[in-house]
Amino acid sequence: MSSNSKRPRSAEIFERGKRILVGGVNSPVRAFSAVGGTPLIIDRAEGARLYDADGHEYIDYVCSWGALILGHAHPDVVAVITAQARRGTSYGMTSPLEIELAEQIKRALPSIERLRFVSSGTEATMSAVRAARAFTNRDVVLKFEGCYHGHSDSFLVEAGSGLATFGISSSPGVPEALAKLTLNVPYNDLDAVERVFKEHSGKIAAVIVEPVAANMGVAPPVAHFLEALREITRREGAVLIFDEVITGFRLARGGAQGVFGIHPDLTTLGKIIGGGLPVAAYGGRADIMELVSPLGPVYQAGTLSGNPLAMSAGLATLPKLESLEFYEDLNRKSDRLATGLKEAAKHAGIPAQINAAGSLITLFFAADPVRDYTGAKKSDTKRFAAFFNQMLDRGIFIAPSQFEALFVSAAHTDADVDRTIGAARESLKAISSVRAQPAS
Ligand SMILES: *Cc1c(COP(=O)(O)O)cnc(C)c1O
Repeated sequence: MSSNSKRPRSAEIFERGKRILVGGVNSPVRAFSAVGGTPLIIDRAEGARLYDADGHEYIDYVCSWGALILGHAHPDVVAVITAQARRGTSYGMTSPLEIELAEQIKRALPSIERLRFVSSGTEATMSAVRAARAFTNRDVVLKFEGCYHGHSDSFLVEAGSGLATFGISSSPGVPEALAKLTLNVPYNDLDAVERVFKEHSGKIAAVIVEPVAANMGVAPPVAHFLEALREITRREGAVLIFDEVITGFRLARGGAQGVFGIHPDLTTLGKIIGGGLPVAAYGGRADIMELVSPLGPVYQAGTLSGNPLAMSAGLATLPKLESLEFYEDLNRKSDRLATGLKEAAKHAGIPAQINAAGSLITLFFAADPVRDYTGAKKSDTKRFAAFFNQMLDRGIFIAPSQFEALFVSAAHTDADVDRTIGAARESLKAISSVRAQPAS
């Protein structure tokens, strides 16, 4: 049975959308290009559940790409948004809500001395790099292959060939002159970092890193990787930026920097801090942040920045993450899921790697351990697509790409996790006959 006949209403809406929205979507991964079939068209969501336009129910492990750590439509979040809407949806001027949320963030991440709210992670990383370039009076940025920092021009760059080669734009529309200023090295490869610093001595403004990579699928840092980045950047006078848009308030209240005990110079946040509304932030050392307008010459602004609806959603969310039990419970459920997935793959005789960090989990259809993008790309994406669709048919929605994390929320119950493991067992068994794709 084709997915169109399973979800006729969704298919019809998607067809209509394609005539006006580019590819029928407002963010590419939603089009299901990597897994095939009719994309989900959502009618509503509650707790750990999504409901599509055909009335099907799914246990949701995307949770708006990790933004919804409390699950969908948490009653307290809904209540504050509703109450705030009556007091105005946007002021275009400062409200106390912004200061309160900023103070709460600073209490959780003490490396943040000054902070600026923006509306997307893309804006946060773009602005952080601008501040770092101004602070150091240098132009080059070093990032890691497979780490995602939003879609601004400087980050849509892949290494061409060889390590220390200047970046080649991986997206048409990014001028080569700008792409050349972004260097890429493999994640977890300190030798490559040292080599690049030697070759571009005195030119590197910033190193930006996902302290636990989650946008190539989950790839945790190897021992001492983050500590070494801290030492090298300090020695070289470069700004260390932790992109904690996913990991902030996810791995722990203090983010990855709290878990690993490292103070980056700048931090970017997003997703969870907005409680499901569009909020992100960049912040860190006061001497760097105070270069930003109006105190300094580095321009950055936003019509809806610090939006009161979005601030109140963040303010309803963050206090719930203050107890140790919150993360204990979240991680316990996540461990149970990760272990269940691992056993299910083993049972089905399918080579798989389960990479997990707290409530971030990826099942790679790969034979060898995945610690960087090259390793992640060895995954059998055809097998992943088959697995994804089997899971969807069983009412489980995981990210429609091999190179994404699965997000567990506080709204997922043990029963949800067990149902998911059961579905994974059946799905993996059903696809064990899908011919393995030769590793690239
Ligand atoms: C999601 C994400 C971004 C981009 O955030 P948007 O709000 O989608 O622009 C940047 N960095 C990381 C690590 C992310 O996960």
